Amino acid sequence: MDRLKKIAIIGLGLIGSSIAHATRRGRLAAEIAGHDASKDVVERARILGFCDSLHDDVATAVKNADLVILCTPVGAYKSVAREIAPHLKAGAILSDVGSVKGAVVRDIGPFVPQKVHFIPAHPIAGTEFSGPEAGFASLFDGRWTILTPVKGSDPEAVQRLKTFWQALGSQVDVMNAGHHDLVLAIVSHLPHLIAYNIVGTAHDLEKVTQGEVIKYSASGFRDFTRIAASDPTMWRDVFLNNRDAVLEVLGRFNEDLSQLQRAVRNGDGKTLFDWFTRTRAVRRAIVEIGQDTPSFGRLPFQVYVPPKKDGKKPGKKKSTARKKTPPQKRAKTKRPRAK
Ligand code: NAP
Repeated sequence: MDRLKKIAIIGLGLIGSSIAHATRRGRLAAEIAGHDASKDVVERARILGFCDSLHDDVATAVKNADLVILCTPVGAYKSVAREIAPHLKAGAILSDVGSVKGAVVRDIGPFVPQKVHFIPAHPIAGTEFSGPEAGFASLFDGRWTILTPVKGSDPEAVQRLKTFWQALGSQVDVMNAGHHDLVLAIVSHLPHLIAYNIVGTAHDLEKVTQGEVIKYSASGFRDFTRIAASDPTMWRDVFLNNRDAVLEVLGRFNEDLSQLQRAVRNGDGKTLFDWFTRTRAVRRAIVEIGQDTPSFGRLPFQVYVPPKKDGKKPGKKKSTARKKTPPQKRAKTKRPRAK
């Protein structure tokens, strides 16, 4: 793809910083500009060095950018869109990475100037970590990114954004926002809700102490705790903004759960066995198409230690990495640290 003169990334957490790293890895832009509402995050991004320019002011960050990507939680999109709209360059692409799409079109759409191409996007890639230290260049490698162009989107601009995401390492699909929200409700939003629920319930159970929950967590519970550790702000916004689709799949889920409950109560082994055989095949299919790797979202991380109160020394990153790191497909870029 043609090298961009300037890309602006608004929100420098896991996804924003990963886009910056992958943009740099592929030499996709002459300038990577970054902005975050948090001065602390901007300072940490400066230390990590994944942006060429950092801006306290969002208007300066987007000025003259060919591509602007919103990477804040979805709940902040409306105010950010209102603020940047007058400063967007004619011909620029305005995109995002939000995990819901219908609400994004609703919140950003009205502010988009006529000569700007608004093309929402969602990379189906992430970990349970957040913050600028959590990002890494290979996050999108082999994953899917879904573009949800709006009515009247310029096909040439859609193609340019598609090429950009492919250059970040992603595979790209295009669909409408409503369909995206229904698909993601079942494959991502509902599983998170279930994980938040099961970990919360286990934590509340009077007969099981918190110590036992942690001690015996290897037995199936552990993977739920990983998902339930996902960022509370981001996931609150997902459920507030994809309510209809989540409620629809939750209704279906409850019906199926009742069926399993009945099978357990009735000692109906055949129903249970057939059900588990079918779900095992789903798991195998996911592994076969390469959408699960040993490392995905389960890596040893390093912890961000905030600066000392005297303010003289910047925060040091303390390694918590285990000695044996599983072999993994990584970019050559040095992996930054997570908090
Ligand atoms: P994150 O690590 O928490 O980063 C978000 C950053 O945006 C934070 O630094 C936050 O600052 C900043 N921010 C909040 N409001 C802002 C504003 N008004 N202007 C500028 N910056 C602002 O979150 P993330 O995981 O990267 O998620 C970002 C987006 O990616 C979300 O829309 C999410 O739906 C989407 N997404 C996430 C995943 C995932 O697995 N995490 C996967 C795909 C897509 P503060 O921390 O100070 O609030």
